Parts: sequence; structure tokens; C-alpha cells
Amino acid sequence: MLWDDFVNSEWHDWRGSGRSEDRLGQEKWLHWFMQQEQVTAPDLPSQKELDELRELRSFLLDLIRHIASGEAVTSYQVDILNEWMAKAPVYRKLSQSADQAIHLSYFPENANWTQVMAEISASFASTLEKGDLSRIRICDNPDCLWVYYDDTRNRSKRYCDDKMCGNLMKVRRFRAKKKLSSSPSNSSMPKAEEEL
Ligand SMILES: [Zn+2]
Repeated sequence: MLWDDFVNSEWHDWRGSGRSEDRLGQEKWLHWFMQQEQVTAPDLPSQKELDELRELRSFLLDLIRHIASGEAVTSYQVDILNEWMAKAPVYRKLSQSADQAIHLSYFPENANWTQVMAEISASFASTLEKGDLSRIRICDNPDCLWVYYDDTRNRSKRYCDDKMCGNLMKVRRFRAKKKLSSSPSNSSMPKAEEEL
């Protein structure tokens, strides 16, 4: 989806080094994003557009944290999302395939970053409308914070990636337990977090 790729441009080192990156400032990431999401803007964003993209990302991340904590979306948040979407129009087009089936499609009117920001907002709005809000998640690894939509059948996905964050947290829990049981006194808490 457009919105999750976008908000994850705020990247945190899931291995716990404390390092983070703002990938919106990296040309390589921007090129990947534009290709991946078929962004129609012809060039990389200008400084002003980058500032706006960061403002949108920070709004969406706040909204996602709000939803992931179990809160309902507020009318104020809906208004802000509407403002972002109102910045650029779409047009509708009806088409007919060979088997006579009729399709209604929406096309962005402009090929620029203002339009891209409206499309990102619209993709999140569409998830709010059609999706299940309890599936909007933030990875349980406190160092990672990757945002994803849990599309597993029993909505049990706790980590962005079970092989990476899932395994790492398992190892941390195991080490914490082992330290606790092997220490002569339990007066101090294990510091297993520092080991990975
Ligand atoms: Zn993760």
C-alpha cells in the first residue's frame, strides 16, 4: 500500500543500535518509492515539497499510533485528512473490457508531489473505510516501530517480520529469563536489552 511504504520512510534500526534514518532525505529511497508506487511526479521533491511530505508523515504516524493504541479516529483527524486529500483532484473514467464488463476508475489529475500527497492520504483514508482498524499495527519490537497492516487470518501478527524482529525478541526474552534464573539474587533486573 502507498501509505505504509510512505510512513516507513522514518526508519529505526530494529536491531537496537538506536540509529534511525529519515529516508525521505535519501535520493536512493525516493527513487525506489517513486518506482514502487508508480509516482507520476517527474522529479524528486523540492525542499518545500519535502517539508510538506514530512508534515504529512508526522500527521499519519500520530494517527497510526492513536489507532494502534485502540482509540477511535476523531473528527479533527478526519478533517485534517480531508484537507490533505482536497489539495489535488482526481477524474473518473469508465471503461469496458472485451467481456463487456464495465469498470469505473479514478485517475490523479496532476503529475506532481501535491497530487502524490493527496494520493497517500487517500490510500490511508481507503484503509480506514474498508479496512479493519485493529489491523493497523506498529511492530512490537520497541526499537523497530515499523508500521504495517496485519492481513493474517487470525490477526495475530505482532512483528513486522517474524524471522527478524520476532526472532530477536524471542532471543531477548530467553536471555532475560536465563539471567534472572541464574543470578544468585533477583535484586537487579536483567539487562538483556543491551546484548542485542
Ligand atoms: Zn519490526
